[in-house]
Amino acid sequence: MDRCYVCGVEIVAENQTDEHIFLNALGGHLTSNKLICKKCNSDFGKEIDTELSKQFKCIATMLNIQRDRGVVQPFDVVDTVDNTLYSYEPGGKPIPKIPVIKQVENHYTIKASNKKQGREVLSR
Ligand SMILES: [Zn+2]
Repeated sequence: MDRCYVCGVEIVAENQTDEHIFLNALGGHLTSNKLICKKCNSDFGKEIDTELSKQFKCIATMLNIQRDRGVVQPFDVVDTVDNTLYSYEPGGKPIPKIPVIKQVENHYTIKASNKKQGREVLSR
């Protein structure tokens, strides 16, 4: 007889659920249906797992960790040295979000992906 390790209720077919042994957001794919009841798994998912997933999102993206559902999402980071906004793509490649327009005193610096985009920025 298996019991939920959180609340102690007996695990039967009606309250059985798959629990990731290691958080899926961090690459855990091994599951067990003998560890936790459906209610506790749902409660943990809403509170703890969701928060852990948010906090480890940047690491999961940098390492391109695949989940059971969804795709790895990029995240944005600002380089505080030159104030450039980057998008970190799955695998950790930083891509500048362009066009970047910077004003230093009386001149501007424009970073664009190509001439067409640069001209569009200038015509604004
Ligand atoms: Zn339980």
